[in-house]
Amino acid sequence: MVILGQWHDKRITISVRERERSLTVSTVWEGHLLTAAYEGGGRPRTFITQGTVYRRALDGRMLTKWRARGRRERRWLPQEEALKIEARGRALLQAVYADLQSGALRGNAELPPLGHTLFQRAIAWDEEKSRADADRYRQIYLPIGILPPDQYSAIVLQATLGCSFNTCTFCTFYRDRPFRVKSPEAFRQHAEAVKDFLGEGIYLRHGIFLGDANALTVPMKRLVPLMEIANQVFPEAWGSIGRPSSRAANHLQTHPGAWGGIYAFLDSFSGERKTPADYARLAALGLKRVYIGMESGHAPLLQFLHKPGTPEDVLHTVRALKAGGVAVSVIVLIGAGGQFYAAAHVRDTIALINQMPLDSRDIIYFSELVVTENMPYARDAAAAHLKPLTHEECTAQEKAIRAGLRFGESRPLISRYDIREFVY
Ligand code: SF4
Repeated sequence: MVILGQWHDKRITISVRERERSLTVSTVWEGHLLTAAYEGGGRPRTFITQGTVYRRALDGRMLTKWRARGRRERRWLPQEEALKIEARGRALLQAVYADLQSGALRGNAELPPLGHTLFQRAIAWDEEKSRADADRYRQIYLPIGILPPDQYSAIVLQATLGCSFNTCTFCTFYRDRPFRVKSPEAFRQHAEAVKDFLGEGIYLRHGIFLGDANALTVPMKRLVPLMEIANQVFPEAWGSIGRPSSRAANHLQTHPGAWGGIYAFLDSFSGERKTPADYARLAALGLKRVYIGMESGHAPLLQFLHKPGTPEDVLHTVRALKAGGVAVSVIVLIGAGGQFYAAAHVRDTIALINQMPLDSRDIIYFSELVVTENMPYARDAAAAHLKPLTHEECTAQEKAIRAGLRFGESRPLISRYDIREFVY
């Protein structure tokens, strides 16, 4: 329900979404338009003001995003700074709710009972509660390094911890932990703790993302019980949790069946090789799509990156997944290997993707290489005297690969994947 009204001569919009149990208030506050959005339990989610978006992560930090000189900029706010943004939103809600109760603020409709509950919970979400919530999050999860862009609203369950390889020179997500598979007991405890922690925020989430990096390399004998537990703890993940946003709903019109279910990364091909029959069994347990970091179709570049497996391994895995009824997403690393590898990277990546049986349930992501000082890639690239691609050259490389791709009538979605935008 959306309530429109006038408040101190300014327009105000109050949105109470029953299915998502969410509250959004948007009006001029302290001289600027401020939009403040909350989950059902009162947990702040997003603030937008003066062209900047503040997205609260479950660990209490905030990712801020804005545009400057035609480019997207972003910065992580530490928890102390994030708390000040939360306090500003809370002050707005207190003032609006007080006037709603006194009758000084009247909209075109009455605030429904759920709206009262959501206002009260969001106002009660003070600094102490926010800190305690972030502390609790850190007790339940090890840091979640990354998710695919269409999975930022998933419920993450860490069935495994770390990456079974941890050798790729451009990836530092899991350097802090050895690879480990949780026992069924530990995983059930974790899943139940996640459910309890998310509380009513669960209605804004969809599906389960089975973390960390390579949960699907776990042998079937151990993986099947873990997926069964995920389904027992979150039976709603099959589709009734929350509802897709309008953007996601549009995506679903062309990608039916993408809602709910279980999703996971698969980056390494060293463990037990799964057959189409294995994947069909996992599909019956809810597995919908697997995200494969193929990076490149050029084998020497994969070796330079210390990436496990070969282009043929990726192709074999994609075919096995598709034959088992599971959708795929392949992720291409744009800019990898700089100028030296550029032509072969484009040529062999096109050739590899064109052999894949992709259709409208699948996604091809282009992820631009982001190099930080502590990455072994930076050291290796310097030693090999590689000249990096500029952002513009990376964009041209993506365009060149896209131009070479050939599909049948049922085309996969092709999209960008910026790892700096990730927030959970
Ligand atoms: S296999 Fe994936 S998660 Fe593991 S180090 Fe490589 S890119 Fe990172």
